[in-house]
Amino acid sequence: MERKFKRIGVLTSGGDAPGMNAAVRSVVRTALQNCVEVMGIQGGYRGLIENDMKLLGPHDVSNIINEGGTFLYTDRCLEFKEEAGMQKALKVAAENKIDGLVCIGGDGTFRGAQDMSRRGLPCIGVTGTIDNDVSSSDYTVGFDTAMNTVIEMVDRLRDTCESHARCNVVEVMGRDAGYIAVNTAIATGATGCAVKEIPFDEAAVLEKIKLAKTYKKRNFIIIVSEGMGGEFGEALAKKIEAETGVETKFARLAHVQRGGRPTLRDRVAASRMGAHAVELLLEGKSNLIVTETDGVISEKDIEWALMYDRVYKGKAKPEEIAKLDPKVYEEMVALAKIKRDKFVELYELGNSISI
Ligand code: ADP
Repeated sequence: MERKFKRIGVLTSGGDAPGMNAAVRSVVRTALQNCVEVMGIQGGYRGLIENDMKLLGPHDVSNIINEGGTFLYTDRCLEFKEEAGMQKALKVAAENKIDGLVCIGGDGTFRGAQDMSRRGLPCIGVTGTIDNDVSSSDYTVGFDTAMNTVIEMVDRLRDTCESHARCNVVEVMGRDAGYIAVNTAIATGATGCAVKEIPFDEAAVLEKIKLAKTYKKRNFIIIVSEGMGGEFGEALAKKIEAETGVETKFARLAHVQRGGRPTLRDRVAASRMGAHAVELLLEGKSNLIVTETDGVISEKDIEWALMYDRVYKGKAKPEEIAKLDPKVYEEMVALAKIKRDKFVELYELGNSISI
């Protein structure tokens, strides 16, 4: 019997994340071990539309497991979202004899993978986003490195805050999700943390600072998630200074969080997820994303994962919910509650052990 998969493609798409290279390396090495060729597609879905790709040998992925960024480059390709662009991509994939695709990125990337799977090209998604905002997975590749970058930067800010008796409000990435904020707030001993998911008790934070001043605490760190909106952090810094008398600076860490050498956690997660994606394709599976749940690497249906994400984020419309099997919806609501409770627990821990 002729083997179905002779050649697969791999691409990185959307926002870059440390560990994407490690994931590509794992995809390439796993495929080659199974006598399947790998086409490295450059610049995300744009490379598929523009036929910008090359075959990757085992040595093309040498010395990249330790590198940040993505050597395949990435892009946000609007043309791909249109039917004409997608048809062009499918045609180019067929011309290049690509039998299946591994798409590394976030939710947007998975929507593209879903669209192509539905049109007959098997696709498997691998998480690659610093934000950890793929609700169906406990972990996304890049998250740990980004958080370690944040704590390194904030530790430095704390040093200078201590010298000058200052407060620093620090805005961290995460899009609408507060995972980076909540975790780094704990790890940096922040006095306060503001995330979109939980109402921010500004009065309580101001009181905490005023009280801590009385027993001569000199440095204060407040972590703010970018989901709070562009002006929030700066306005909060002004308010803290005005209300507490502590000189307060504002810092937006921005894209520094996206770069750097991936941590062990990200290299291992990327290696496990990349290999699993290839195994799924070789088993004839499609339209799945590779996830990590309680430390176990497995997979979820993309349709399920994207809908669950909307349920978790409170974005699911009544007409979408009506189309779901009530049992499936119930299960999503129950899982979302467990996930949300864990998040709130972390947030509260951070608040309760900081002064
Ligand atoms: P991320 O994957 O990090 O969430 P984006 O949301 O920017 O990043 O998505 C990455 C790319 O995936 C987009 O530039 C586009 O090419 C593709 N994409 C996003 N949404 C869709 C969609 N609804 N249908 C098809 N392709 C999409």
